[in-house]
Amino acid sequence: MKRIALFPGSFDPFTNGHLQTVQRASKLFDEVVIAVMTNVSKQGLFTPAEKEALVAGATQGLANVRVMAAPNQLTVQVAEAVGAKFLLRGLRNESDFTYEAGIAQINRTQDTSIETVFLYADSDTAFVSSSMIKEVARFGGDVSGLVPANVATALAAKMASLGSDPA
Ligand code: ADP
Repeated sequence: MKRIALFPGSFDPFTNGHLQTVQRASKLFDEVVIAVMTNVSKQGLFTPAEKEALVAGATQGLANVRVMAAPNQLTVQVAEAVGAKFLLRGLRNESDFTYEAGIAQINRTQDTSIETVFLYADSDTAFVSSSMIKEVARFGGDVSGLVPANVATALAAKMASLGSDPA
């Protein structure tokens, strides 16, 4: 049976930290499915369709990685639908650890056959968060070393289109 991992996240936007996690996981699993989810507590800058296209562009060189948009669905239901027995998440620090432990335990209450696997962030991207990227980009800062090239281009365009009142 193929070992499939589902990598759920908001990816608003997809960063080099996310990308490194996916690259590393692509060597551990037969297939990695990236699910662009809706995080009800976070205001999105990009639409689900925009995020799906950006993740697809950033991961096109990885043969066993694919992306799907899964708004308004439970993570374990998405995993079941794609045949994933593993949920992939990244950890950067203690606050991620605490937050992620809660998510992993809640997911276990929904389906005990699905295991969450954590990859610790590489030191060169452990400080990168989507919210910081948006903050820097909003004020015209350079994020080109922190996100895939297609994401940097899309961020600049999005900020320009939003003018002086970005999300
Ligand atoms: P969510 O809103 O579901 O937390 P995110 O898009 O913020 O989604 O993150 C998805 C996953 O990627 C989370 O497990 C998060 O901890 C992890 N992650 C975020 N940034 C990094 C990074 N720089 N390095 C490694 N993992 C990361």
